[in-house]
Amino acid sequence: MNRDTICVQGGYTPGNGEPRQIPIVQSTTFKYATSEDMGKLFDLEADGYFYSRLQNPTCDAVARKICELEGGTAAMLTSSGQAANFFALFNICQNGDHIVSSSTIYGGTFNLISVTMAKMGIEATFVDPDCSEEELDAAFRPNTKAVFGETIANPALTVLDIEKFARAAHRHGVPLIVDNTFPTPVNCRPFEWGADIVTHSTTKYMDGHGAAVGGAIVDSGRFDWMAHADKFPGLCTPDESYHGITYAERFGQGGAFITKATAQLMRDFGCTPSPQSAFLLNLGLESLHVRMKRHCENGLAVARFLEAHPKVAYVDYCDLPSSPFHALAQKYLPNGSCGVVSFGLAGGREAASTFMKNLKLAAIETHVADARTCCLNPASSTHRQMNDEQLKAAGVPAELVRMSCGLESSEDLIADIAQALDKV
Ligand SMILES: *Cc1c(COP(=O)(O)O)cnc(C)c1O
Repeated sequence: MNRDTICVQGGYTPGNGEPRQIPIVQSTTFKYATSEDMGKLFDLEADGYFYSRLQNPTCDAVARKICELEGGTAAMLTSSGQAANFFALFNICQNGDHIVSSSTIYGGTFNLISVTMAKMGIEATFVDPDCSEEELDAAFRPNTKAVFGETIANPALTVLDIEKFARAAHRHGVPLIVDNTFPTPVNCRPFEWGADIVTHSTTKYMDGHGAAVGGAIVDSGRFDWMAHADKFPGLCTPDESYHGITYAERFGQGGAFITKATAQLMRDFGCTPSPQSAFLLNLGLESLHVRMKRHCENGLAVARFLEAHPKVAYVDYCDLPSSPFHALAQKYLPNGSCGVVSFGLAGGREAASTFMKNLKLAAIETHVADARTCCLNPASSTHRQMNDEQLKAAGVPAELVRMSCGLESSEDLIADIAQALDKV
């Protein structure tokens, strides 16, 4: 099916007389007639539900839709994007292992990898996404277990050369994990370019209304764990905490990764989404294809206006021909990237502050990617503790404004931006 149709109808097909909309199964537990019936579920010998920390029918239906959208073989929801990225990495990395990651990734993920996972004994090497294949190869070690990057980085807006990163990962016998939050599968399907695992913060465009925090992990089913069994003992040798199951043998290439993440990590960490949140996420997914088109149209209209304005020093938006990422965007994101535009005001930090104070439609928020336009000056908020020099080094100079273009009329958005720039 076409992606547009999957957005609307994927993941759930009601039977005769059943609810047209995905039912919210707001139940922690499920009833069985015999202990033997339940035992089969615990042994992963039968399909079914027993406790909503591990699996729930509402969450599974929405995960199936995201799986179909990405073209994967298995998927799961998590309670946040942070949990999705943590699970995706920790499912194949343990104490003593190493990760290669693009350096331009979301701040929360950067902290997760560089600080919290380091405390677990998992080291990381960060590489410039623009690096050569040789530089990328040099980042690998014998104990490297995964490569990580974001299709469009938040907030740097760099575009990942997915094929280059996938080739390097596969040369070294490890999977490429891509966080596909900003483009969503409507604008890019990383599996088509060689990625093995995809993650999402569904909090952003997938939900699209700023209503529910959530995450998702999708497996392409293409990575041959058994061919690299020495690197991935968690998938390729018996799990003593699960009756000696060997996930890669029992569930095959298409099912092992998500089954292990559910049976082991969700069981032990419990980063479970609520069925109510999964329902809200599905409402967002039903219009994702229609909304992404509008977010991109508004992003491009705003970027073009800003680029031509004398008070604007520069604009970062990969759909502009002036962007250093334009060629990559044309390859990986031919239908548009997303609605997030970054730009610098010629007047510096003070100009950014005056500009934002005078906006009437765009609210000042740390959020991005929902129906209402919002903006942020990292220098005066998320990166407030840094001086101008440090801000520049971190890629968020003092004058930088990140604007997430919503679904309003682009004429109204541009008129609002124009009047706020006049006050600068
Ligand atoms: C927001 C975001 C995350 C974290 O997701 P949460 O749902 O806030 O936990 C991860 N990656 C990217 C690219 C994001 O934008």
